[in-house]
Amino acid sequence: MRRIVVAGAGQAGLVLALGLQKRGYAVTVVTDRDAGTIRAGRLISNQCVFEPALRRERALGINFWDGHAPRILGASFGLAGDSAEPAISWEARFDHPAQSVDQRVKVSDWLTAFAERGGEVRIGKVTPELLDGYAREFDLVLVAAGRGPQFDSLFPRDDRHSRYREPQRTIGITYLVSGRDEPLPVYPGLTFGLSPAGELFGLPIQSVRGPVFGLGFFGVPGGSLDVWDDVTDPGEHFELAMTLLRKQFPWVAESLADARPSGPLDVLRGRVLPIVREPVGTLPSGAKVLAMGDAAVTNDPVAGQGANMAAHAAAVYEQSILDHGDRPFDEEFQRRTFAEYWEKAQHATRLSNDFLAPPPDHVLATLEAAQTVPEVAHRFAHIFENPADYAAWLTDEKVSLDYLASKGS
Ligand SMILES: Cc1cc2nc3c(=O)[nH]c(=O)nc-3n(C[C@H](O)[C@H](O)[C@H](O)COP(=O)(O)OP(=O)(O)OC[C@H]3O[C@@H](n4cnc5c(N)ncnc54)[C@H](O)[C@@H]3O)c2cc1C
Repeated sequence: MRRIVVAGAGQAGLVLALGLQKRGYAVTVVTDRDAGTIRAGRLISNQCVFEPALRRERALGINFWDGHAPRILGASFGLAGDSAEPAISWEARFDHPAQSVDQRVKVSDWLTAFAERGGEVRIGKVTPELLDGYAREFDLVLVAAGRGPQFDSLFPRDDRHSRYREPQRTIGITYLVSGRDEPLPVYPGLTFGLSPAGELFGLPIQSVRGPVFGLGFFGVPGGSLDVWDDVTDPGEHFELAMTLLRKQFPWVAESLADARPSGPLDVLRGRVLPIVREPVGTLPSGAKVLAMGDAAVTNDPVAGQGANMAAHAAAVYEQSILDHGDRPFDEEFQRRTFAEYWEKAQHATRLSNDFLAPPPDHVLATLEAAQTVPEVAHRFAHIFENPADYAAWLTDEKVSLDYLASKGS
């Protein structure tokens, strides 16, 4: 039987591990934190997951939250202007609801399920040195240990596909609950606000202690939303978030007037360096290891693509492993597998990188047209679940304007 080890237990590694386990593979997951530690820890992400990734989770029987996680029914867009009302605003319903289950819940439940289904879990921090031992013990070593510099030398930056050298946003997220008996009167979908200082991203989430509203700010460095560096106290984080909301995105503030913080660990601040890496690493022994998820491609979370692409990686890698049968998982296999993933993932990276730059005129014209033409709003709202349509449509000025003209705008 093929033996496969996955280093890192997140949306990428665990979905692959659970998928391969279902197919009868002997899979080992090595992770630096056990399920209880993850669940009791600080929040990790905003993790809005769209239909294609949810479909995969359902097919594997690992979406344990359908039925009680809030359904994310659509997108509500607002462009900050000079007054309290947005200069441009529209809403569009998703064809299929999205879902955001706190990754502390998701990952801890999946890790527990994987072990209960007979998977081997080893707790410990994987280092480049340890990977050589795994390469001797297993037929295939996958590194799914998330973003950051820890495997920089193994998976160096791919200059051809990495647009930025520095993080482009300062992120501050806080989870909120109602301070009264009634739920917060928030929009039951993604609330997206755009301003020259950065973005607002809000959504209903199924969190550790029940439903919350995740409120995130993405500040352009040096601008008025780049304020999180010195904020260590959760109470201060909450007050600052509310002040920014009232000032920059006032039309959203009313629905959160009765909000209070959901817990001291339900805050997150930091920066993400968007990077595409060389996906195949060579160990000192010469053995090859394959990166997946954020360990291979990290996008700024501003367009909500990372967890979705991690799930996509799990699906592509699983199929590639199955198709490969008993042949060795050599470099050719590893490069081919990543290339197949990148076919779709490149569009998510393009979308995320483009969102970090000021919108060009034809995109602003599209956002404006969405106010009056529901079909345009519907199409725009769906680029998050299908970033290939973004690439086919909004990256080309002529294509975009021709489309608007065909819709009478
Ligand atoms: C603020 C924020 C908001 C986001 N919002 C969204 C969103 O709305 N939608 C979306 O799709 N994506 C979103 N993302 C991105 C998404 O969270 C990530 O892209 C996704 O979690 C990547 O999954 P992964 O499995 O590759 O890595 P991770 O989820 O980071 O998992 C890696 C795992 O490996 C473990 N690990 C790390 N190092 C080691 C080691 N050395 N040894 C052993 N184990 C190790 C970690 O503990 C972790 O469990 C957001 C991210 C952030 C930061």
